Amino acid sequence: MIVVENLVYEYWDTKALDQVSFKIAAGAITALVGPNGAGKTTLFKCVAGLTKPSCGSIAVGGINVLEEPRRCHELMGFLSDFFGLYDALTVQQSLEYFALAQNLDRRVAKERAAEVAELLNLSEKFRSRAASLSRGMRQRLAIGQAMIHYPKVLLLDEPASGLDPEARIALAELFLRLNAEKKMTLVVSSHILAELDQYANDMLVLRDGRVVEHRSVTSKNGSRKVIIRSASGRERIAEFAGQVNGVTEAREEQGAVCVQFSGTDDDLAMLLKELVQHGVAVTEFFCKKEGVQEQYLETVRM
Ligand code: ATP
Repeated sequence: MIVVENLVYEYWDTKALDQVSFKIAAGAITALVGPNGAGKTTLFKCVAGLTKPSCGSIAVGGINVLEEPRRCHELMGFLSDFFGLYDALTVQQSLEYFALAQNLDRRVAKERAAEVAELLNLSEKFRSRAASLSRGMRQRLAIGQAMIHYPKVLLLDEPASGLDPEARIALAELFLRLNAEKKMTLVVSSHILAELDQYANDMLVLRDGRVVEHRSVTSKNGSRKVIIRSASGRERIAEFAGQVNGVTEAREEQGAVCVQFSGTDDDLAMLLKELVQHGVAVTEFFCKKEGVQEQYLETVRM
């Protein structure tokens, strides 16, 4: 759905993007992560067709963003990290205005505004002016404006900043709904990695303007990590684990044995059974969820 090749972007004294290349599949929810100054916002602006890179190419839904930015805007929505609202307009007027700007006809624009307000839990404030909204509500209205045309691709730069924990959970649920029901491909940046774990299934890590990692978040080649602790010696665990179906690697990690496992649940049960039957005193045995946070930290440590 998004294909970026050899993108270079230079501010007068800084190379913000340096030969950035990646592909994002349709239907993915990608977490765009990296330290301050990594180039995330610059990348968003380039992909959204709001600024031209020094060189490289960007295609969204098969359309060349640099050659046909306006056509791309029809299938993309973008929430900037610093957004503005029309304070004098009500929620309804704001959403309808953006719907009309996206060429929806008047009747559809009205219906869509009500539907999006409902999705974003803003129906109660439908007739309130943007100026009177709380920070979290303003954030939600801005997201609503960006997705009013139900774009195929939704780019969100720090969408959860300023939201309370409840609103963050609601936002995660909204992203999953937009992905499942409206078939949107989402790219979301955030510095709060645990929050991205709620919905992201793909992780793109930028550092110093370069892609340092791009991988599926849910699993490494479909495998999971099993952490095993024992009172009777770590070498024995590695020895027995090696004989069980599905174990691809067993190594020591912070006083435990970390087993990379790609077998079935039955194989996993067999692994525990084998250990116990061979007299290993297992004190802990659990599958570790490898989310954005763990995988990002692993990447940063490399
Ligand atoms: P953050 O997480 O802090 O929002 P980011 O990953 O979004 O950072 P960018 O804002 O894209 O990073 O910045 C990438 C690099 O480009 C940084 O070194 C930054 O200082 C530089 N930069 C960004 N905007 C400008 C600008 N308008 N003029 C000059 N340099 C800029």
